[in-house]
Amino acid sequence: MNKMLKDLFRGKKFVGSGLVKASLGFMIVFVLIVGLGFGYIVKSLFANYEGVRQTADLRTQLLQLESSLINQETGQRGYLLSRRSEFLEPFDQGSSSYEAISTAVIDQVREMEADASLEAAILELTEIGKTWKSQFGDTQIQKTQAGGTVTEQELTDAKRQFDLFRAKKETLMEQVEVLRAERRNAMLNHLYILFAAMGTLFVVVQMLMLNYLQKGLMRITRPIIQLDRAVMSYEDGNMQERLPDYREDNEIGRLVDNFRRMHDEMEKEKRTLENTYRMINTLYQSRDLEEAYRNILKSLETLMACDRMSVITQNADGGFSIKAVCFDGNVSLEERPLPDEADDVNELLRGGVSATHDDWSKHRAKGAITDGLYAIGIRSSMHILLRKENRVMGLLNLMSTEAGFFTAQKRDRLEMLSPMIVTALENASETLRIQDMAMRDGLTGLWNRRYFEQAFDAQLSRQGNAKAERPLSLILLDVDHFKTFNDTWGHSEGDLVLKHVSQLLQQQVRSGDIPVRFGGEEFAILLPDTSTEEATAAAERFRESLESQSLSRKYRITASFGVATSVGDRTKAQLVEAADRALYRAKDEGRNRVCADVEPGAQRLV
Ligand code: GH3
Ligand code: MG
Ligand code: MG
Repeated sequence: MNKMLKDLFRGKKFVGSGLVKASLGFMIVFVLIVGLGFGYIVKSLFANYEGVRQTADLRTQLLQLESSLINQETGQRGYLLSRRSEFLEPFDQGSSSYEAISTAVIDQVREMEADASLEAAILELTEIGKTWKSQFGDTQIQKTQAGGTVTEQELTDAKRQFDLFRAKKETLMEQVEVLRAERRNAMLNHLYILFAAMGTLFVVVQMLMLNYLQKGLMRITRPIIQLDRAVMSYEDGNMQERLPDYREDNEIGRLVDNFRRMHDEMEKEKRTLENTYRMINTLYQSRDLEEAYRNILKSLETLMACDRMSVITQNADGGFSIKAVCFDGNVSLEERPLPDEADDVNELLRGGVSATHDDWSKHRAKGAITDGLYAIGIRSSMHILLRKENRVMGLLNLMSTEAGFFTAQKRDRLEMLSPMIVTALENASETLRIQDMAMRDGLTGLWNRRYFEQAFDAQLSRQGNAKAERPLSLILLDVDHFKTFNDTWGHSEGDLVLKHVSQLLQQQVRSGDIPVRFGGEEFAILLPDTSTEEATAAAERFRESLESQSLSRKYRITASFGVATSVGDRTKAQLVEAADRALYRAKDEGRNRVCADVEPGAQRLV
């Protein structure tokens, strides 16, 4: 209670401080009403009491006035009867006190502000007494003093005047009595009215206070009820329920504020979760590795909104290389080897622990890549290792130009996602492996006819409009007398020969050339951007090496070659047919030779 009042006077806001203030205010008003009411009651009580007392005084004075006249009358009568002067003393005393009382009673009645008739009656009464003294009292004493005798008639007249006084006084006494009763009643009525007014005022103040308290309590309870409703609806997953619009600087205001922040965080979390689900879904739908890398970077950008990212993964030979980079939203899928002096990355890959560097201007890993990035403004980074059963498969690098950008929450989120990224990459490479298997020949490992078809189409479209500058050549190769070979050395030896031929082809083709097992003991090599002459020369090299590099001393293997070229003037079927024609010619002309499909009359090359 003490603390509450201290807080209140320090101007500190707390729940119900308004109510406490209002209650204090009402209490002060209440004390004022009671105080003023009592003051007024006491004052008016005194005023009324004064009125009642004055009527009582008036009554006493009337009795005294009568008694002073009686004293005069007794003294006068005694003197008239005995002629002894000592009787004049009570007479004189009575006279003088009558005078004094007359003045007092008149003053009193005037002071009382009673109605005029009472004042007139009192004036009349005093006059009757005075007339008795002047006409009878004094006259008869003087007559007696002068030796005369007061007649019976004179005495009777005096007696009548005296009786008149007494009768008048009795009437007045009754009148005063009535007045006193009236004044007493008025006083009581006044009191009743005052109490009733005070009671009414008190009730009104109380009602106002109750009304205010009720409104004040509602102001406190309404946001709590709304908060409760919002919590319940959030529990049911509905984030639409509105939060109370309560902005007071007190405990409830702060609670609502915190709740609003929590709501915003939850919304953000929800969006992040949705993005994460979308990301996982997209990742799992990646059809090949390139798409997987692209999807990983695009999704990470949505999730993390950082400035630069890269993905490093392991190659078949166990080494690592940068597979994809995203810079300002642009994804590049060009594979780059790690520089030799990339100590920072190597350290991470060897350490086997994900890391966050909060502020590169204070601390960062040492190495060529880090230095380069620092130079272009990178100030914080997060490195999440991609693992498969404790084996490090790669590394996700996220960078920001803002120091402290990568929070523990972001790191946890990405750590949780990293196994899914690994799975997506594995799935994509598995898909690639399966696709690769479907495109390769089982015996020799060379591309098969199906791949040849695809590659051929791709090369044709690559030629585009520059067909004349980009000639596409095809070499067809057929092992000579292979049927006989099989018959002589056996089918499995024949298979070995086919593998040997494939290896020779693979070793000798330029990168970009596509060697294919066309079927049986027939092979093809597709040579983009190669003229007939170049292709013929290449065929000649194959022929020579095949002839000279025999698998066994027991036999010699040779093959015949047909070469054809398209400069946009042949369809796929026409080019194959032309090469086949040349091959047929090579066979026809004695085998172990190269023939180019030239116009009729063109010379044989070998
Ligand atoms: P040439 O081409 O010189 O005219 O004579 P050839 O004996 O090679 O004639 P042909 O093309 O008719 O014979 C192809 C032979 O290649 C028939 C088949 O026994 C053999 N052959 C085809 N595919 C395979 C294979 O996968 N393995 C083995 N060992 N032999 C195969
Ligand atoms: Mg054949
Ligand atoms: Mg053959």
